[in-house]
Amino acid sequence: MRRVGVRTGLAVLALAAVASGCAPGTKDPGAAGATGTRPAPGGESPHGQAGAKQTHAAKMRAEYAARAAAARRWGLKKVPLTPPAPPATKPAITTREGFEVEDHEELGLPPVFTTVPTKDKVVFLTIDDGAEKDPAFLRMMSDLKIPYTAFLSDYLVKEDYGYFKKMQDRGVALNNHTLHHPYLPDLSHSRQRREICGMQDVIEKRYGKRPELFRPPFGNYDRDTLRAAKSCGVKYVPLWSEEVFADHWDYREWDRDLHPGDIVLTHFRGHADWKGTMPDMIRRFLNLVTEKGYAVARLEDYL
Ligand SMILES: [Zn+2]
Repeated sequence: MRRVGVRTGLAVLALAAVASGCAPGTKDPGAAGATGTRPAPGGESPHGQAGAKQTHAAKMRAEYAARAAAARRWGLKKVPLTPPAPPATKPAITTREGFEVEDHEELGLPPVFTTVPTKDKVVFLTIDDGAEKDPAFLRMMSDLKIPYTAFLSDYLVKEDYGYFKKMQDRGVALNNHTLHHPYLPDLSHSRQRREICGMQDVIEKRYGKRPELFRPPFGNYDRDTLRAAKSCGVKYVPLWSEEVFADHWDYREWDRDLHPGDIVLTHFRGHADWKGTMPDMIRRFLNLVTEKGYAVARLEDYL
């Protein structure tokens, strides 16, 4: 019911924005091919090729207006940029130098990486654990159409599996962050296997799909971790380059900057742990990403 309400509200806002026209200087992807083809309000339905062009331009215009309205509604400084189409050829993902374990390649262990090799000006948003289950966050991300990837720990997710089902229904991939969030290198191979493969089973049972992505808690792993992960279907072990909180950013690199293909980490957290809410964190994230000329792309599209 709520989703219908949100969508209707969106459509009304989008129409209002189209009718009043875009402000001069507004970056409008529909404008270039739209010369003289703006449909009159309530105008007749178009026919033929010119009509199709007109319909496409009008659609682009309406989509942009809806995005701009959503950005205003959620208090963003600028409208988030649209990511390019997913790459036709996926980049080769390899383990970052210094992040290998013994016999990493020989054993065919999943690659551990912090950035995806690409020239596209995109970053990827990944959200861990699952403590905070804020309905406003789900609405915000659907409204803004920002992709992200979740890494879930069962001890937190089991409080409300339904919340993450809604997330999955909105196109978010649910991935593995262990059952109980232990420091894995302290555990034997078989206990690590229980933590990682047990979570593969939970996600498959609850959400119908076995994850291909696994992130070790705290980013800590050893050879047994990667052997265990591989044994139960994990293909990639993405870590992160930056971490965003409700009130600040942390950077792995000395230049304290974003780079094409960077993976950004954050957490499902709220006032209990943070000086702010999930929407506050997303505002901080999007404001910087957009300011620096990056779009947010879907990690799975590049793997
Ligand atoms: Zn974690």
